[in-house]
Amino acid sequence: MARSRAARVALATFVLTAALMLPNPGGPPAAARPVAAATSGELFRLYLGAIARDGAHLDVSLSNLTPYQGGALLVAANDSVAGTATLLGRQYPLLPDGTGGLAGFVGIGVEDPPGTTTLTVSVTRTDGAPETMLRTLTILKTDWTVDYIDLPPGVGDLLDPAIVQAEQDRLNAIYSGVSARKWAGAWRDPVPGPVTAAMISGYFGEQRSFNGGPVGGHHGGTDFGVLAGTPVYATSSGTVELAEGLAVRGNMVIVDHGGGVFSGYAHMQSLAVTAGAPVVAGQLIGYAGTTGLSTGPHLHWEMSVGGVLVDGLRWLDGTQGF
Ligand SMILES: [Zn+2]
Repeated sequence: MARSRAARVALATFVLTAALMLPNPGGPPAAARPVAAATSGELFRLYLGAIARDGAHLDVSLSNLTPYQGGALLVAANDSVAGTATLLGRQYPLLPDGTGGLAGFVGIGVEDPPGTTTLTVSVTRTDGAPETMLRTLTILKTDWTVDYIDLPPGVGDLLDPAIVQAEQDRLNAIYSGVSARKWAGAWRDPVPGPVTAAMISGYFGEQRSFNGGPVGGHHGGTDFGVLAGTPVYATSSGTVELAEGLAVRGNMVIVDHGGGVFSGYAHMQSLAVTAGAPVVAGQLIGYAGTTGLSTGPHLHWEMSVGGVLVDGLRWLDGTQGF
């Protein structure tokens, strides 16, 4: 039987409110939310929860339900002290948000299969009880472009697989770390903004062919085609995890934002921070350049979530609901 228009509007309003509600303030008790119970398929769970204890029922909010390959989600849960979100066998930490709930980011890999999948959120409630909630996501396909790059003699020599691998191993080790949450608020442009398409010289996920070689891999970050000496800013608050010259990525800064989220800034002319230093969102961390494996001045900026590189531009334009 078709719902009345009024009922459909009410449902749409609820879904929209739930999606925007981050961090989740908890909301009214389950009994006051018949629409949520009836439409989520979780009536049985809510009923059991109401019998089991007096505490607020578990609310899990996702910043968006249809992420793209290379996208990310912000997951929040109420009245809980610890938790994880698991997607496609990868586990992401949910950390205390300072208001009694949890929050954390989930990364969608460039090769994650498009289609419907399940996000499993497991938490320890404030009263110590474990609870798990399943949410359905639909991963959307991203059409990656291909970039053919000619490297000048000498620069290409740095593509020695052993050098590339050693540096990659080091970054992988850093990006797999999890520290207390330090990110806060909206994510900031890494270069003087506003960011426009004209500033982008290489998109995240682009597949590449070097010197006529095979098309392979995916560009792990976004390239801003800015002049040498352009200021580079931390996109959110955190701790400088690395600040030094690397063979491939040149002068690089990596900021640990906590919860397994990192931002990396490569090929810089010079650095303005040192390892171990705290930084705030928008703080100057260096100046763009063309050090390392680079054909001209630009900033390579990458975002990593639980070791999965994701499209940083999607963190700046608000399209992911955070
Ligand atoms: Zn790049």
